[in-house]
Amino acid sequence: MPRLGVLGWPVAHSRSPDIHNAALASLGMDGWRYQRLPVPPSLFAETTRSLRASGFVGANVTIPHKRAALALAQDVGDTARAIGAANTLRFADDGTIAAENTDGPGLIEALGSSLQGTRALVLGAGGSARAAVWALKHGGASDIAVWNRTPERAGAIAGELGVRAVRRPEAADLLINCTSVGLERSASDDAALNQLGLTFDQVGEYSYVVDLVYRSGSTPLLSAAMAHGSRTLDGLAILVAQGALSFELWTGRRAPIEVMRSAALRQEPDR
Ligand code: NAP
Repeated sequence: MPRLGVLGWPVAHSRSPDIHNAALASLGMDGWRYQRLPVPPSLFAETTRSLRASGFVGANVTIPHKRAALALAQDVGDTARAIGAANTLRFADDGTIAAENTDGPGLIEALGSSLQGTRALVLGAGGSARAAVWALKHGGASDIAVWNRTPERAGAIAGELGVRAVRRPEAADLLINCTSVGLERSASDDAALNQLGLTFDQVGEYSYVVDLVYRSGSTPLLSAAMAHGSRTLDGLAILVAQGALSFELWTGRRAPIEVMRSAALRQEPDR
């Protein structure tokens, strides 16, 4: 039975199993199965190397393993190399691990409008922030700034990817949250915004607000953006777009996007 999965720590919140299992079922790929793979950082390399022997042909990689996944692979795709992080692994029979990144291309697809001339601010400096900066550069954004709670990390990715690091969030056309703030419930929405260096009023300075975090109901950032009348895009839409690209890499089949979208939207309690 060909197996697929998502490696993360934590990974209980991931909707990827629902999305991919719905896609596999709709294409009649009955023998295939996609599952959560909760693996702590200390066991990531050892566990990932052993997956092929357990029938796995591929895996998604999520927090906090995306850099480690890139380092582990022998065969690294151009996009993963440029981003410096991998979210999709393929396991060959000879033990070779291939790494690619579909977060960046998936984000471009999900944004749904031209980035030419856009001024953008990215919040965060982890694997998904790298993918967002790549997507913005690739899409032709005219100015890209990165803010992070730990400024040294913003400085590091800005230097590496050729964009600006900022000490506090600046106004822009497009705001993309690539931190995990909003994943866990905060004491209040204002407290969550403050962790992003923002106040409720400041959120109104962005006409398009994107949150990579997904959970049941809206995130504090998207709730604030909607209250200001800004355009919004949620993490589930991005998850489906990147998941569809990963699915095609593993199976060679065209991803049934609508099936995946419906599975993602099915209301479930937080896990
Ligand atoms: P990561 O590499 O672990 O980076 C985490 C980022 O969040 C870092 O910049 C970290 O800042 C920041 N952060 C964590 N806790 C914070 C807090 N309390 N206050 C302020 N900043 C905080 O993770 P990642 O892979 O980039 O993923 C980030 C989030 O995006 C996750 O929630 C993930 O589920 C989501 N995501 C969604 C999709 C999708 O398809 N929708 C795709 C990828 C990722 P420091 O550097 O200061 O620690």
